[in-house]
Amino acid sequence: MEDAVKVSTAGSSQLVVAGAGYAGLHVVLRLTARLRSHPEMMLTLIDRHDYHQALTELPRVAGGTRAADAVRLPLQDMLAERVRFVQTEINGFDLAGRRLLTGAGPISWTRLVLALGSRPNDFAIPGLAERALSLYSADDAEQVWAAVNQALTAAAAASDPEQQRRLATVVVGGGGATGVELAGELAAILPELASRHGLAADRPAVALVEAGPTILAGSSPQLIDKAARILSDLGVQVAVNATIAAATAGGFRLTGGQLVEGGVFVWAGGVKAPGLVADSELPTGHNGRVKVDRYLRVLDHPDIYVAGDLASVTDPRTGHVLPPLAQVALEEGETVARNLDAELSGRPLEEFTFHDKGFVVSVGTRRGVADIAGITTGGRLAHLLKDAIEWEYRQSVRHLRGWDPVAR
Ligand SMILES: Cc1cc2nc3c(=O)[nH]c(=O)nc-3n(C[C@H](O)[C@H](O)[C@H](O)COP(=O)(O)OP(=O)(O)OC[C@H]3O[C@@H](n4cnc5c(N)ncnc54)[C@H](O)[C@@H]3O)c2cc1C
Repeated sequence: MEDAVKVSTAGSSQLVVAGAGYAGLHVVLRLTARLRSHPEMMLTLIDRHDYHQALTELPRVAGGTRAADAVRLPLQDMLAERVRFVQTEINGFDLAGRRLLTGAGPISWTRLVLALGSRPNDFAIPGLAERALSLYSADDAEQVWAAVNQALTAAAAASDPEQQRRLATVVVGGGGATGVELAGELAAILPELASRHGLAADRPAVALVEAGPTILAGSSPQLIDKAARILSDLGVQVAVNATIAAATAGGFRLTGGQLVEGGVFVWAGGVKAPGLVADSELPTGHNGRVKVDRYLRVLDHPDIYVAGDLASVTDPRTGHVLPPLAQVALEEGETVARNLDAELSGRPLEEFTFHDKGFVVSVGTRRGVADIAGITTGGRLAHLLKDAIEWEYRQSVRHLRGWDPVAR
């Protein structure tokens, strides 16, 4: 533990949280109750949107089983009056002057929490950014759903069965959790959707293209096997060891020269830090994530904490950097909130330790796979578990307003 320097001994302290995603919103909700005991503290939250996005639910929006507005949770329903919310774009940093450069002008901090999440990483694959859709916001998910419907409409208008089949094929690049969830969701709904467009139910198809030797890399072999079986049941064509060399007008061109054709292309193959972080002088590691110390403060910048996808945190037990997951973002947000409270109160800082609660992936609209406490399940139960986790998350963000962890 490290003794904290008190954030402010004179005047007000400006705690600024950049990003109202899983990590940033959690920091704010956890700190809100502490405002009562620290009248000198000004808590500001900044985001380009006036809503929080439940990103883990995007595959359902992309598959038309959930409305986009249902995953945009208005911040005004969650934030207490004493939290200042600024809706604006953050464009850069003045690290020496301790200011964020935003569309609403410079915003000064005494302590800053950077929780700006991540962006899709196209790994500089030619044509990918222009030709493939991504799935990283409610807007993106709506676009995928619209593109699928457009492709089915075009397929229904085509007379050649081969052309129909090509237009009605959705190709998903990247076999991680997002790619698997999206492919499963689409494969489950496409037969019925095709019928609604006047197409034969077996005309559409979903292809999942993964560069590595397996889908859901890093998961247990049992979980991977169960997920692969469900995908196969749903008719998803899974190609592993299939590296996309380029996205062309005709489809995804693999390194071996093979062309994967389709009517809709979605890229879910990885994430990287937002560009404005890469352009800053913050110390960054793999995929541009910001390097932090054990307390989640930027190396050599103890006035800046980082949480969520943007933070590069190595798990000492595995030696690997923690993955970009909501579960990790929430736990990091919890530690950052505690450490800011500790600084305000002059208590020692807490080291971050990740407590893995398990891994759950929905595959299709009814089934899923889960690895929890060393037990792997696949089927209806895992899907219900994913539903329950998402429901519980929504309840928690709505009810955390003013919740005081210290007073309890
Ligand atoms: C489709 C999909 C499915 C997923 N499913 C799961 C899952 O099932 N389980 C799981 O654990 N994880 C899942 N994840 C990963 C999880 O969503 C992320 O790890 C999590 O959102 C990270 O939280 P964060 O707070 O770091 O970033 P985010 O939640 O992305 O929040 C970042 C915030 O910063 C704001 N912002 C960014 N840049 C700027 C700027 N320049 N100016 C102003 N505001 C800005 C954004 O608007 C956003 O509100 C999924 C991700 C995706 C995309």
